[in-house]
Amino acid sequence: MTPAAEASANTADFDAIIIGAGMSGLYQLLRLRELGLSVRVLEAGTEVGGTWYWNRYPGARFDSESYSYGYSFSKELLVEWSWSEHFSPQPETLRYLNHVADRFDLRRDIEFGARVKTAAWDEAARRWTVTLENGRRLTGRFLITAIGALSAPTLPRIPGRESFRGESHHTAEWPKEEVRFEGKRVAVIGTGASGVQTIQEVAKTAGHLTVFQRTPNWCAPLHNDKIGEAEMQAIRARYDEIFARCAETFACFLHTPDPRKTFEVSDAEREAVFEKLYAERGFGIWVGNFSDILTDKRANAAISDFVARKIRARVKDPAVAEKLIPKNHGFGTRRVPLETRYYEVYNQPNVELVDLTETPIERITETGIRTSARDHAFDMIIYATGFDALTGAFDRIDIRGSGGRSLKQHWSGGAATFLGFQSAGFPNLLMLLGPHTALGNIPRSIEYCVDWVTGLIGFMQARGLSRAEAPVTSVEDWMRTVRESSAGLLANEVSSWFTGVNTNVEGKGSRILARYSGSAPAFRQRADEVAAQGYRELDLG
Ligand code: NAP
Repeated sequence: MTPAAEASANTADFDAIIIGAGMSGLYQLLRLRELGLSVRVLEAGTEVGGTWYWNRYPGARFDSESYSYGYSFSKELLVEWSWSEHFSPQPETLRYLNHVADRFDLRRDIEFGARVKTAAWDEAARRWTVTLENGRRLTGRFLITAIGALSAPTLPRIPGRESFRGESHHTAEWPKEEVRFEGKRVAVIGTGASGVQTIQEVAKTAGHLTVFQRTPNWCAPLHNDKIGEAEMQAIRARYDEIFARCAETFACFLHTPDPRKTFEVSDAEREAVFEKLYAERGFGIWVGNFSDILTDKRANAAISDFVARKIRARVKDPAVAEKLIPKNHGFGTRRVPLETRYYEVYNQPNVELVDLTETPIERITETGIRTSARDHAFDMIIYATGFDALTGAFDRIDIRGSGGRSLKQHWSGGAATFLGFQSAGFPNLLMLLGPHTALGNIPRSIEYCVDWVTGLIGFMQARGLSRAEAPVTSVEDWMRTVRESSAGLLANEVSSWFTGVNTNVEGKGSRILARYSGSAPAFRQRADEVAAQGYRELDLG
């Protein structure tokens, strides 16, 4: 056999290849099986779980209520599963996803330890050829990315990082073995949602913890609690209502915005609303607040001032409190980390805050971290430095569409998609949680996107169609909506992953239109229309 013929004989062929066995990939596999398709899921990890497999850092847990976060597609699953806390810790969520994989017999179609390196569209064969890092090749009619929006971890570009002789871990690449902090001098770099959860946990046992903060974030209390059996029974009885509520709200959380504007009420009433939200569970203070806090500067200043007062009241040292209060962005214009006694951590004698705006990191040394002020010695450095969000996981695979066009290059000035599902020039590439899809409470978005993709493939199957591509006109049309829905948001003026900024990634230093900021119901309405009209906004053949 010629090498080419040999390669082709060894190439397994499927109707669909799914990259990733997290929440999206698992559900997509299940739905495509129902259509009778042959499916192979390729998973880089050694287990199912995606985000909940990789992010096993101390203190990792949901920020959305557990019972609004689980899958809703199976009544049996809802009935048999019990959440033990209002915001489930990572080990429990990972157990849940393993349970789902077992219950629906999903593992037999999943290949673990299979990291995808390249994917190339073959127009003549109307198939994707996927190559794994181990050199194996597979082909598939459809290539479905279930690779997550926050799954490409990034490390800071600080000189000397490799020279550190102690332990170091990124929160999203946390080891499976237990990591202990007792008696150790630990550094955490980063104070986003991952950093905040890590810091409040590590501070409990570390000999000494030093937090390196570049930009403080506005954090609000999570108010987690255990769920007893009786309460779980009551939650089960309300599942229809819970998911109906999630389907109605802007970002699929259980909290609905107060229709009033911040200054429509008296000062006393406004303060009472803020107090009530601060005392309630979850994201209410962010997404259930007065309707103008994310668009009106004065309204935003009012809630920012309220949260600043809370921080001052909770942190004993006024100088430390001031450092923890964001000065360059208002409340909610970046993702609000939810916390449990986070601010009180800074009252502990074993915890120190280093403000990198005053004393920047100059380098990492063999023994620790050198700032412009001094050397700090550490046994462990924890990088809670985030992700190359939204497009990073795509960029890490060499994806080639029609005529060998590179997706990474195609998106180098910012991604352009049709509903987040497709990009022009990449036939039969279907993206779950692709850029410009509605995000919010992620599993709610996942279930919708998987159902939509399944609907499209079922439609094509029924008509003997084998090729789907979003034309440029459809992409432009959706990108107009994305632009319009983002108009007036204060978040546009702030650097964060919401605006596509990651200073640790070449070329991602300036703000772009990185995500869809309209409502989830509006997104679904648009995507439903596309389906109802026979997907005529796609080129099908
Ligand atoms: P992140 O929000 O992007 O935070 C990264 C942190 O690292 C920021 O404080 C950033 O500072 C800092 N940083 C990055 N590079 C640095 C450098 N070179 N020097 C100093 N500091 C540096 O990332 P994340 O905390 O991993 O969270 C990302 C998203 O994941 C969240 O917004 C959320 O959507 C999701 N998440 C969810 C949960 C949950 O649901 N429970 C938990 C964790 C994460 P700057 O702000 O100055 O850039």
